[in-house]
Amino acid sequence: MVRTDTFKRGVHPHDSKELTAGNPTQNAPLPKRVVIPLSQHIGAPAKAEVSIGDEVKKYQLIGSAPGFVSAPVHASISGKVVAISDFLHPSGRMVQSVVIESDEKDEGIALIDTPDFMALSADEIKALIRDAGIVGLGGAAFPTNVKLSPPKEKTIDVVILNGAECEPYLTADHRLMVEQPKSIVNGLKLIMKAVGVTNGYIGIEKNKPDAIEAMKKASEGEAGIEVRPLTVKYPQGAEKMLIKAITGREVPGKGGLPMDVGAVVQNVGTALAVYEAVRFGKPLIERIVTVTGRGVKEPKNLMVRIGTLVSEIIKDCGGLAEGAVKVISGGPMMGFAQWNLDVPVIKGTSGILVQSEDEFISTDEYSACIRCGRCIDVCPMGLNPSMISILSEKGRFEETKDYNLFDCFECGSCAFVCPSKRPMVQFVRLAKSQTKPG
Ligand code: SF4
Ligand code: SF4
Repeated sequence: MVRTDTFKRGVHPHDSKELTAGNPTQNAPLPKRVVIPLSQHIGAPAKAEVSIGDEVKKYQLIGSAPGFVSAPVHASISGKVVAISDFLHPSGRMVQSVVIESDEKDEGIALIDTPDFMALSADEIKALIRDAGIVGLGGAAFPTNVKLSPPKEKTIDVVILNGAECEPYLTADHRLMVEQPKSIVNGLKLIMKAVGVTNGYIGIEKNKPDAIEAMKKASEGEAGIEVRPLTVKYPQGAEKMLIKAITGREVPGKGGLPMDVGAVVQNVGTALAVYEAVRFGKPLIERIVTVTGRGVKEPKNLMVRIGTLVSEIIKDCGGLAEGAVKVISGGPMMGFAQWNLDVPVIKGTSGILVQSEDEFISTDEYSACIRCGRCIDVCPMGLNPSMISILSEKGRFEETKDYNLFDCFECGSCAFVCPSKRPMVQFVRLAKSQTKPG
């Protein structure tokens, strides 16, 4: 029997990955207009470096990073800046954004190629990653160079690439691993050099045998790099679960971080972006997005310029199918429902899921907790989601902290199994918004 690694608890939702898993990545058509938010990452928003009326080229810096935890943003098309104003963001907030109208030339500024990229120092690699505006592409969008610069007292001895892609429906990382495995391995090598470690793992759920094979082949002969097949279980791709599955180490509760157990975790898409930034000097101006669900006519994996509107992407996929009821930015477990499709694809957009009536489970008429304990059985963090939801529902937000509210990373496993259809993640988010960690 082939050994696979995993963690305790979790759930097994039907993954529906067959809709796009075999679809090679296509380039989305060049957008006529992009809306590029100056905040697409955790941390301080970027500061606009262009004015209305400016002509810009592809790759040009349009927003600089004002602080350490921040990331610059770049033009994803060439054209004219026609607005700098607040626009709707997939998170539901209004965010200052730069709107560029295409000149349809797609002209870029010259980039600097570094064929001998592995000869660069750790500091040079981190500087190139920072200047390219790279953030975690798995969804959390944390500035990558910050994650690669832990405080001196933390010793990092392992880098893990997250190729688990455990969210149902999403296949973007799967396609990248099949299509660009060598570039991903080069990205991993650069990340390992940036943090000074010699051990690197690539964790992939075993329902992607072609990706496992491609990554194994691409890492053949690379010292210290190992591909680890993982059990198919949600949320296998969550950082803490991945670290536990691969190294056996447990990230401590109450705000513990991967660096506390010597680990840095990066998504495979981030590794690709790191390679492209360091080798070719390419800023992060595009990303792969899985457009899927039975509510869209032609599910696809698309390479999309940052700032392209979701409405345009859905049009590129044949439009909405009859019976489409809900559009989610991201996957069904951790994504954000969208009420307006004129929101842009941002650096953290891994998927656009359009659910049909059959796929959609309404929590509009949820009922009281029947204390069945199922949510407790599945919570990968060992929390008591039922108590958190009950206290939050009653407005007793401070008391939710006695149940380690801030250890919840909103995976949605508890909501998935709840027979009362309680909107657990919404209760968690509500409590988090009304209290402070600590
Ligand atoms: S309480 Fe949080 S971490 Fe636990 S299952 Fe629910 S959403 Fe996931
Ligand atoms: S699964 Fe739902 S009904 Fe059961 S204990 Fe948890 S919150 Fe209550």
